[in-house]
Amino acid sequence: MGCELCPRHCPADRSKGPGFCGASDRMKVARIGIHRYEEPCLAGEGGSGAVFFSGCNLRCVFCQNKVLQTGKMGQFFSPEELADALLELQQLGADNIDLVTPTPHVAGICAAIDKARAQGLHLPTIYNTNAYLTTDTVRRLEGYIDLWLPDIKYRDQRLADAFSKAPNYYETAMAAVEAMMDISGQLQINEAGRAQRGVLIRHLVLPNCIYDTRAILDGIRERFSTDTCLSLMRQFTPQPDGQFPLNRRLTHREYNNAVDYCINLGFERVYIQKAASATFAYTPEFGDYVTVQL
Ligand code: SF4
Repeated sequence: MGCELCPRHCPADRSKGPGFCGASDRMKVARIGIHRYEEPCLAGEGGSGAVFFSGCNLRCVFCQNKVLQTGKMGQFFSPEELADALLELQQLGADNIDLVTPTPHVAGICAAIDKARAQGLHLPTIYNTNAYLTTDTVRRLEGYIDLWLPDIKYRDQRLADAFSKAPNYYETAMAAVEAMMDISGQLQINEAGRAQRGVLIRHLVLPNCIYDTRAILDGIRERFSTDTCLSLMRQFTPQPDGQFPLNRRLTHREYNNAVDYCINLGFERVYIQKAASATFAYTPEFGDYVTVQL
């Protein structure tokens, strides 16, 4: 039986071997720890309790976590072991549970959340995703996820083909976000400034591709309104072997252009990043094994 979690619809039986994402039917985790680089409403004071899963169903050529894409790095976790880790993150003072690149592991994640909640987990859960998943998968997560953090990568299918080999990327991602909005609505932030529920849409601005950033922002406004909370990410860092148009950092002019366009469209809740974020310092280090940074 194949896998239907994302639009790749791999025919592979994952109990016998991995699909395109590199994930078998056993959860593999590359890193667990407190992560302080998410948006302020997510990082809070305690930081996010982040679980970086191994493997990825999008595999962008410019990924800053490339070492995780193949699914080879990390350790296998049972749902019971993941539940224990989530409870440990809560004990350490994390403000939330941040599930990073979770789509290939939805079944194990739901089982782990069930077990952890039964033992006292009360933190909001974040689904931190490349947005390339089916609406059925989003619906399956209803009741398990409080905060959705989809990163809309491209509107121009030529970019999706060139950088991620992802058929029908934009429409798939927007349909997934629509399902997330149906479940949780726009982002709700409490008086202490912490996100509790809803959707925060990210977009990583790419060099030489501002036209696509503008088109994505137009699309978000049309489909979800200017009430949508956005995070315009500036942290693109070229790979050593990066080819045009991804062979340089973003210029100040490009990023400011994206921010101005966003504000002129009427968005009022927009996270922006300083230029200093475009370094590998924002990329967590990964050893051969899970590292619990406590
Ligand atoms: S989650 Fe992985 S195995 Fe499943 S369809 Fe997507 S790429 Fe294929």
